[in-house]
Amino acid sequence: MGWSAYSTPTPHNNAPAAFPGRMRAYPAMRAYPAMTKVVRSITPVIRAVDTRTTKLPPKQIEPIYNSPQYIAWRAEITSRAGRRCEARDEHGRRCTKAWPEHRVYADHIVELKDGGQPFDINNGMVLCASHHERKTFRVRVQRLKR
Ligand SMILES: [Zn+2]
Repeated sequence: MGWSAYSTPTPHNNAPAAFPGRMRAYPAMRAYPAMTKVVRSITPVIRAVDTRTTKLPPKQIEPIYNSPQYIAWRAEITSRAGRRCEARDEHGRRCTKAWPEHRVYADHIVELKDGGQPFDINNGMVLCASHHERKTFRVRVQRLKR
């Protein structure tokens, strides 16, 4: 019987025997990929949440826009403007966007819902998409302030 018979490895004092135990001490390492999947699946749900407190009613096309008077009014407004946006910047320079390179709109200066006259050529101007959008937004803000 040699000296080595007394140095038989035991689970308490031998590092290799403790190794599987150490692996069990880090379950998060194995759980991590699953956690990543959970986070990824939550993200689109958060993005889909509608934060608006009130829903706008569906946009209705008013019958006026199909009337011959309106079509004549629009033709008058757009030909007078040379089918070019009539918005001006703070220096008085006119916007250069024009049909057919750009879509232009015959806009009611005073909107119909604010009591503007629908077929008055003095209540019309041509605006490009960008200026039309900005003006519509500005008018809506003013309307909400009233
Ligand atoms: Zn413009």
